[in-house]
Amino acid sequence: MSFTSLGLSSYLAKALTAQNYTKPYPIQEAAIPAILKGKDILGIAQTGSGKTASYVLPTLIKLEGKTATKNRHINVLVLVPTRELAIQVEEVFRVFGSALPFTFKSFAVFGGVSINPQMIGLQNVNVLVATPGRLLELAESNALHLSSVSTLILDEADKMLNLGFKAEMDRIFALLPKKRQNLLFSATLSPDVKNVERVLLNDPLVINI
Ligand code: AMP
Repeated sequence: MSFTSLGLSSYLAKALTAQNYTKPYPIQEAAIPAILKGKDILGIAQTGSGKTASYVLPTLIKLEGKTATKNRHINVLVLVPTRELAIQVEEVFRVFGSALPFTFKSFAVFGGVSINPQMIGLQNVNVLVATPGRLLELAESNALHLSSVSTLILDEADKMLNLGFKAEMDRIFALLPKKRQNLLFSATLSPDVKNVERVLLNDPLVINI
């Protein structure tokens, strides 16, 4: 099985090789074609499984065409529990995104640092990676709009819930368009994660690696 046979464009092949990704990991074989088809996903997967690329690669392909308009808006929203993961995930978008034949902008926002540079950096962002508290703060001060989000990704959902972000997450979900693709990744399927799954996912493909 190769990455191109999963439906990823050959543009990405060079970037994949440069990153020493020679063949897809099992979670990528399962998730990439399904995400390209527009399906919701519940991925039960640990760090190290390759879960990040399993959603970054197909999401980048789906961005094509959405970035061409003059007014760029947030198309993809990734919620993560920590600043470290926000930085790491945004970097994966940037590394693979640089191989694409169109330009797009990814950006990470997280708490614990000054909000003003983030407000400025948010302009023309297509892919936003965020921790829930800071995202809400920015949304409530009108620094960003979530009305164009077509893909919502929750990474390490169990950790996000364990850190007490449930209320913030619910408030964020309420700001999103109803029609969207939802990808939920978690190391464990706790009752709290199941509750989020019920609210968020529509007939998901369940991948348990
Ligand atoms: P993750 O589970 O997303 O944190 O990824 C774990 C590590 O595996 C990261 O360092 C990735 O760069 C790497 N990785 C992910 N997919 C592949 C692949 N198909 N081939 C080689 N390395 C990969």
